[in-house]
Amino acid sequence: MNFDAIPADRLPALLQRMPKAELHIHIEGSLEPELIFALAERNGVTLALDSVEALRAAYAFTDLQSFLDIYYAGASVLLTEQDFHDMAMAYFRRAAADHVVHAELFFDPQTHTERGVPFETVVRGLKRACEDAERELGVSALLILCFLRHLSEEAAFETLAQALPHRDAIAGIGLDSSERGHPPEKFARVFARCRELGFRLVAHAGEEGPPAYVWSALDTLHVERIDHGVRSIDDPALMARLARDGVPLTVCPLSNLKLCVVSSLSEHPLPALLAAGLRATINSDDPAYFGGYLNRNFTETFAALPQLGAAEAYRLARNSLEASFVAPERQAAWVAALDRCFAEAGA
Ligand SMILES: [Zn+2]
Repeated sequence: MNFDAIPADRLPALLQRMPKAELHIHIEGSLEPELIFALAERNGVTLALDSVEALRAAYAFTDLQSFLDIYYAGASVLLTEQDFHDMAMAYFRRAAADHVVHAELFFDPQTHTERGVPFETVVRGLKRACEDAERELGVSALLILCFLRHLSEEAAFETLAQALPHRDAIAGIGLDSSERGHPPEKFARVFARCRELGFRLVAHAGEEGPPAYVWSALDTLHVERIDHGVRSIDDPALMARLARDGVPLTVCPLSNLKLCVVSSLSEHPLPALLAAGLRATINSDDPAYFGGYLNRNFTETFAALPQLGAAEAYRLARNSLEASFVAPERQAAWVAALDRCFAEAGA
């Protein structure tokens, strides 16, 4: 393909139109303030802030923890199966508009079971939304259960036991929440068990935590993808390892900006990760809180980084499709659609 034949002024439209997968989206992080208030009213929940505007104004974060405090408060409005379904469908409609053909949704059952919401309420609502998304919107979807790393490994084992009756609804296992002070090896035994059970494995590492956490996620947890992983840029041996093994990184530029992992998008390491041959992808993380869904992550990142052009857009979209946990034949059909999209744009 001749990417140089695509003029720069056509790139923003192409970024939006190209078929892509989203592999790093916390479904609880897609709760918009309007939906938080609607669900609070439906469920008779009283919120600490009294308006959508006040809630949105509180989304000024200084680091990961300052975000998590607000995020867990927002999730408190989710009580019924229908709430989880409606939250996920609101995301899927936005994803479909962004030409997302496949999404792998993280969900945090412990955020809900700790409040007394049964595990099956969460997973049933989300599973039904995944089925509706495929049928009504043509968006393929999988669920990835994340353990909260600020809780104990014992608590993760309890959550895994609750998940087993729903094994078929859950494609993979991840690790999220407060990274610093909670290295991947804290969960070595529960991840080993998940591996025996045949779950696909991912983990957040190298967002705020050091490159050592990425090494540990690879060598101790044996994950297939690293969520974030941007701090790998500080460790040349790790960069070489990630490139050699083709480990996908689910990078989230607007999240990194909002949580002060980078001071501006123009300083984001994404171009360097791609130039080093890493299988980076772009994702929205917690889009309701970080200022944008997937296409906005693409367009703002490309606008801030002139080194990124049509070749990088194609590579990022293709990486996302091929790093997904779906069968190779389905991936190949999406890649063919991506090729057609670029051919139509003049490549
Ligand atoms: Zn995340």
